[in-house]
Amino acid sequence: MPSLATKLTEVHGVPPRFIPKLKRLGLETVRDLLWHFPVRYEDFSKVYPIADLIPNQEATVTARVTKIMGRRTWHRTFHMVEATLADDTGEIRATWFNQPYIQNVLQLGRLANFSGKVTVSKKTGDIYLSNPTYELLTTDNLQQTTKHTARIVPIYRETKGLTSKGIRYLMEPILRNLPAVPDILPPETLRKHLLPDIHTALRTVHFPDTLDEALAAKRRFAFEDLFLLQLVNLRARAARGGERAVAIPPEPERMKTRLATLPFTLTASQKRSLWEILQDLECPHPMNRLLQGDVGSGKTIVVGLAAIHAAESGVQVAIMAPTELLARQHYRTLTKVFHGFELGIALRTASESRAWYGHGMESEPAKAALHRDIARGSIAIVIGTQALITNNKQQTTNNGKQGQTTNGQIQFKNLGLVIVDEQHRFGVEQRAALLINNKQQTINGSTGSPSRAQSRDDKQIPHFLSMSATPIPRTLSLTIFGDLDVSLITELPKDRKPIVTKAVGVAERSDMYAFMKREIAAGRQAFVVCPRIDPPGEDPEPLTWEERVKLEVKSATAEYEKLKTKVFPKLAIGMLHGRLKAAEKERVMSAFASPLSLRASADKRIDILVTTSVVEVGVDVPNATVMLIEGAERFGLAQLYQFRGRVGRGEHQSYCFLVSDSTSSIARARLKAVVTAKNGFELAEHDLKLRGPGEFLGSGQSGFPDLAMQAIQNPDLVKAAREAAQSVLRDGMAPPSRYGALRERLVEFERKVHWE
Ligand code: ADP
Ligand code: MG
Repeated sequence: MPSLATKLTEVHGVPPRFIPKLKRLGLETVRDLLWHFPVRYEDFSKVYPIADLIPNQEATVTARVTKIMGRRTWHRTFHMVEATLADDTGEIRATWFNQPYIQNVLQLGRLANFSGKVTVSKKTGDIYLSNPTYELLTTDNLQQTTKHTARIVPIYRETKGLTSKGIRYLMEPILRNLPAVPDILPPETLRKHLLPDIHTALRTVHFPDTLDEALAAKRRFAFEDLFLLQLVNLRARAARGGERAVAIPPEPERMKTRLATLPFTLTASQKRSLWEILQDLECPHPMNRLLQGDVGSGKTIVVGLAAIHAAESGVQVAIMAPTELLARQHYRTLTKVFHGFELGIALRTASESRAWYGHGMESEPAKAALHRDIARGSIAIVIGTQALITNNKQQTTNNGKQGQTTNGQIQFKNLGLVIVDEQHRFGVEQRAALLINNKQQTINGSTGSPSRAQSRDDKQIPHFLSMSATPIPRTLSLTIFGDLDVSLITELPKDRKPIVTKAVGVAERSDMYAFMKREIAAGRQAFVVCPRIDPPGEDPEPLTWEERVKLEVKSATAEYEKLKTKVFPKLAIGMLHGRLKAAEKERVMSAFASPLSLRASADKRIDILVTTSVVEVGVDVPNATVMLIEGAERFGLAQLYQFRGRVGRGEHQSYCFLVSDSTSSIARARLKAVVTAKNGFELAEHDLKLRGPGEFLGSGQSGFPDLAMQAIQNPDLVKAAREAAQSVLRDGMAPPSRYGALRERLVEFERKVHWE
């Protein structure tokens, strides 16, 4: 008898010709096949007399073949088999396209079940069965169990040459001789959450007698995945407790002095978040915290304070942003707000390096020189993009006295804190790379002299702080980011006026232009965001990033030309997109962000910035009051929310126009959700329902369990799975030995979801 691990090639009854096709579906073992769950079911369980068939209904008839013939169709492009089926109550026609072999299977007089949709012929008005699934019956036993007809039939993800029918054909004998499958869920958990045991669940997920049975089985498997995810999280958390990090004392007096120099007082939740971060930093174990706050809630200042605090305590800090634009902005903010800071701050992106050593002294050192200063420790804070950690260019440098060779990556002397902006933008893989790199860098950095904070040793790991404005629904953050602690900024700085948001049609564009003109005359500025333009009729997803940028640039360039020459010939229009060189981006952004007083000179002034989704995150220009989004239906809700957050950041009333000519009711409902949403969380929940969790995780989530992804929308199930995981793990790192099957499965699962 096969076991779960048995290769399908070795299973008696799996014809060899199916093997390559199964492989295409990723199915190689008995376990893979059993866990290839139906994507949906068709309910053919009602068997009707032919006379009772109702048009447009799914149904099964038990009938004999009284006529059958095959022919080529009018254009000779299709082959069609046509049959007449009869039972005691009447006759019905059935047709099949491009399956000529059916003539041989369904011979005259054969009795069979036929399941399919009762279709009305356009020509004659008669009903017929179009492409019905059939299953031969033996005359003497009509009570036999069926796989394809007269029941609830599973529909699977298919591949060329292997249809759902084929998969059912392979699945059924394996389920009938099911090997001993150990149940990884403890019996008390099954009882408590009313979940079917593993054998029942496997049987009923594939061949349920009722749809409720199928649902219960799916719920069990979803629970199982969530349970495993939670175990992974809990173990990661426990492991972190075993790791060491530099303990950075809170220094309340120094912090108070620093806060007093800020141009504003922190909001209550900024204070609380900062406090939580400082407490984590004080621990000798690495922090792993997410700072979450609505757009404009003031996250930058909070992490900036944490960075300065860590740097003044003698460790180095790396800050990473998703784009060069944002890295530059963080650099500008930090060097501006913390002008009293005595240590070095550097900007290091793929295309630029800058260093600032306090008192307005800024230089543009060569990369090698900057790297030397970082390795020596005279730069305390390094700001960059993910290139900070993923610079793959092999390059050999002489690393000072130690004479080591490096691969061009930055070597820190004593990296103690890593901050990542818009953390969910960093894919799972990058996060993993980051963690691995931290370890290497820490080890490399340990040759330096002991820092002021506490002497280091080889095993110390930097504290990790991420921030995100995209609100992650609670269920998702518990599941995917479950080993993170979360600090929430729940309010906006006071005096912020809500942004007036309107969904408008293209017909109203000239009104909006007139409105923009008035705002600009009053001294304000505006954004015009252009979407990518998808090639007609194509799914946007297969586009590579390069292709997307190209298309985005095209639409932004066209819009820029139009606004500049036709609509606003008297105004200063700027353009920003992902293809511009860093220096040009810098020039455009600094012109757009330059204060009113400087805007008299023509090259320091941009009234309207035409741009693509590069402005999505973080860009901070408080004087801008109009955000006009073209083709708004093409963006995700969270993304639209981010765009809108680019305005309303100062004292002036701001406006956001969502322009769309889409007539689809779904598109309109989505835009309406942005108009009425009270906060980003509401929209995030909405997006999660509409577009699935991909939005929050970025691409490349292969290997992530599908059912768990769906189940994430069910908070009760997430909570139950979390409790179950806690009860199994207690305070140990591994489930007790009586959960042998679970322990094995967990190892496999951890390998599969590998985000650490
Ligand atoms: P986000 O959370 O979206 O990253 P930012 O950190 O860019 O928001 O802050 C938005 C704006 O609010 C910035 O111009 C910042 O200087 C300002 N700001 C931050 N905190 C406060 C505060 N407590 N009071 C007033 N303004 C603040
Ligand atoms: Mg920000």
